[in-house]
Amino acid sequence: MRIGWIGLGKMGEPMAMNILRAGHDLTVWNRSPEKCKNLRAAGAQVARDMKSLAANVDILFVMLSDDAALQEVVLGANGVLAYLPAGSVLVEMSTVSVAVSAAISEVAKAKKIQYLSAPVSGSVALAAAGELTILASGNHDTYQSLQPVLLAISAAQFYVGEADHARVLKLAINMMVGFSAAMMGEALSLGLKNGLDRTTMLEVMGASVIASPLIGYKLEALKACDYSPMFDVSQMAKDFDLALEAGRDSDTPMPLAALVREGWSALIASGDGKEDFFKYVEMAARSAGLHNE
Ligand code: NAP
Repeated sequence: MRIGWIGLGKMGEPMAMNILRAGHDLTVWNRSPEKCKNLRAAGAQVARDMKSLAANVDILFVMLSDDAALQEVVLGANGVLAYLPAGSVLVEMSTVSVAVSAAISEVAKAKKIQYLSAPVSGSVALAAAGELTILASGNHDTYQSLQPVLLAISAAQFYVGEADHARVLKLAINMMVGFSAAMMGEALSLGLKNGLDRTTMLEVMGASVIASPLIGYKLEALKACDYSPMFDVSQMAKDFDLALEAGRDSDTPMPLAALVREGWSALIASGDGKEDFFKYVEMAARSAGLHNE
C-alpha cells in the first residue's frame, strides 16, 4: 500500500513519522517545504506537489489547520480530490466543521473514493508517542482495512458509525478540554487569593477526583508557568466556534461554551493567541489581581 501524507505541522509531522517507522511506504507533502526535512532524513519520499502525491497513492492522510486549509487542499481546483484515483482512500484527521467534512464526503463519493473521517484526540506529546485516540466514521470495511496504519499512530481507536459522527464527538471532547483550562484558572486563583501555595495546589489537584489525563500531562508545565504552545489559544477558539456552530445547527444550548469562548477572544486580544490554551489560567489570575501566576 502506497501511503501519502499532507500536513506536517505540530501534529502531522510526528504522526507521519510513526507511520514511516512502522515500515509503511510513505510519501509526504507540506506547503512549507522545509517541514519535510525530518521525514526525508528518516527515509520518506517527498512529493514535488500535491498533484503528483495524490495521483500515486492508495491511501492519503490529511492533517491540516482548519476548514480554509482543507477546502484549498482537498476541494480546491488543484485539490487532491481532483487527482486521487477511483478506489483510493482519503483519511481526513484535522479538527474541522461538519459542513466541510460533508462537502468532501459528497465529492469523494461521486469520484468513487472512500472517505474516512478520523479526527484525533490527544496532544503533540501523545502524537510523538504514537498514543493518540482516533475517532472514526465512514465505511466500516474501509476503517477495518486501515487498522495496521491507525495502530502506528494511536493507542485507542473508536469507530462511531457510518454517518459523520466522529466530527461532532471530537468537537464535544475538545470543548471539555477547553473547559478544563478555564476551570483550573478559576480554582487556582481562588486558592492563591486565599494564601495557598500554587505548586501544592497543583499536586493535590493532580491526585484528586477531578484529575484527568489532560490535567496530568499539563501539571509540570503549569507548575513552571510554561505556556509554550502544544495547542494554541487560536486553535482552541477555532474549535469552540465549530462546536458552537454544531450546537446552533442542532438547537443545543451551550451557555458554558459561549462563556469560555469569550475568554479565548480576550486572550487573543491581549496578544496571547499563539500561546498554549492553558494560558487561560494566567488570564484568570490576572483578573483576580494576581500577577505572574
Ligand atoms: P499546525 O502546527 O498549525 O499545522 C497546520 C498544518 O496545516 C501545517 O502543515 C500547515 O502548513 C498546513 N496548512 C495550513 N493552511 C494550509 C493551506 N492553505 N494549504 C496547505 N497547507 C496548509 O497545526 P497542528 O497543531 O498540527 O493541528 C493540525 C490539526 O489537528 C488542527 O485541525 C488541530 O485542531 C488538530 N489537533 C491538534 C492537536 C494539538 O494538540 N496540536 C490535537 C488534536 C487535534 P505550513 O507548514 O505550510 O504552515
